[in-house]
Amino acid sequence: MMKQVDVVVIGAGASGLMCAAQAGYRGRQVLVLDNAKKPGRKILISGGGRCNFTNVQAGHQAYLCANPHFSKSALARFTAQDFIDLAERHGVNYHEKALGQLFCDESAKEIVDLLLTECDWAGVTLQTHTEILAVHKEEEGFRLETSQGEVRCASLVVATGGLSMPKLGATPFGYRLAEQFGLSVLPTRAGLVPFTLHQADKEAFADLAGVSLDVEVSAEDGTRFREAMLITHRGLSGPAMLQISSFWLPGQALRINVLPGRDIPATLQEWVKAYPAQELKTVLGRELPKRFVEKLMELGLLVNQPLRQYNAPELAAVAELLGRWTVRPNGTEGYRTAEVTLGGVDTDELSSKTMESRKVPGLYFVGEVVDVTGWLGGYNFQWAWASGWVAGQFC
Ligand code: FAD
Repeated sequence: MMKQVDVVVIGAGASGLMCAAQAGYRGRQVLVLDNAKKPGRKILISGGGRCNFTNVQAGHQAYLCANPHFSKSALARFTAQDFIDLAERHGVNYHEKALGQLFCDESAKEIVDLLLTECDWAGVTLQTHTEILAVHKEEEGFRLETSQGEVRCASLVVATGGLSMPKLGATPFGYRLAEQFGLSVLPTRAGLVPFTLHQADKEAFADLAGVSLDVEVSAEDGTRFREAMLITHRGLSGPAMLQISSFWLPGQALRINVLPGRDIPATLQEWVKAYPAQELKTVLGRELPKRFVEKLMELGLLVNQPLRQYNAPELAAVAELLGRWTVRPNGTEGYRTAEVTLGGVDTDELSSKTMESRKVPGLYFVGEVVDVTGWLGGYNFQWAWASGWVAGQFC
């Protein structure tokens, strides 16, 4: 028998569950469909199992989007504080790590439980293990053919996320559906993802795997982040590298300042005066991991000698290397390990107030499937909550 509901939400992830609960509280009969076995799988593994569920500094400036203003409306209507209030109402204990990032004290499962409880209270029906075979537009809404039968709805919300982590069931469904209805989809690529290095660089740095240092990394477009960099056996990772990966394009170089926050030429001059007889390796080894300093010397990137022996051009070269070490990655680890997908459904196609398609009334896109991608640090969940919440008021 054909099911009939007011709203179908495709995707029981962060944005879909938030949207479903809101629509349910408005008295809409809501059915959430997901092809996975369990809801919220990405939430469960997020933030190292503790879910960095929001960032108290979340504002449109922390998001990449072809229209940098698009996210303003949703982020203003459902703020980080709104999600914090919700978490507190559900008794979720949390703590702030660096830079406004809020994590669960216990487990990311608490966030999934929160969303499922909200959906339960709002009378939402959740159906997993369901493949969507086809979607048809009808005069009064939509008809979906699924592996569990047909369903009709007045409003259809697409919350199927991006392409990152295909092992967790990520699919391009949302993009294809947008295209089916004539909506433009901007090219997608992996974001918040570790870099791989060319074979020679990989081999040169392989024995430093596990070494971490505070850096300021810049992309060619001038974007810069100051956070930790981690050298891995495949390349470069850590928050600094994940952040800058969203601003990097194939073939481009990264400039890495390994003594961030310092006037490096002036610091070198001070060191020459204070420790003229000490070797550069000794002095730098007090500021940076010793193995890293030794590697730079072993590779001939830095010359080691007592500080008083450096002439002015040599000191300038040391300053240049420490402040603007140039690394040209081979690529990234791609969707396999990326936290997010850049690009997606073009925001020009959507109302920023409702997330509804301008061309197809009743069709909504929320969360990561939309061309809005946050920095690392809880911003992506805040977008999922905000866009899902907004759509939930209208769908
Ligand atoms: P998702 O949460 O991915 O949900 C999409 C849902 O759609 C899934 O349940 C999926 O099964 C379903 N689906 C997909 N295709 C279909 C289909 N064809 N038919 C039916 N259902 C389908 N962000 C943060 O802000 N903080 C973090 O700590 C953080 N950590 C992360 C860690 C990892 C390892 C990863 C991969 C991502 C992390 N993110 C984090 C990003 C964050 O998880 C996503 O941005 C967010 O989950 C996007 O929400 P969404 O609702 O758009 O999509």
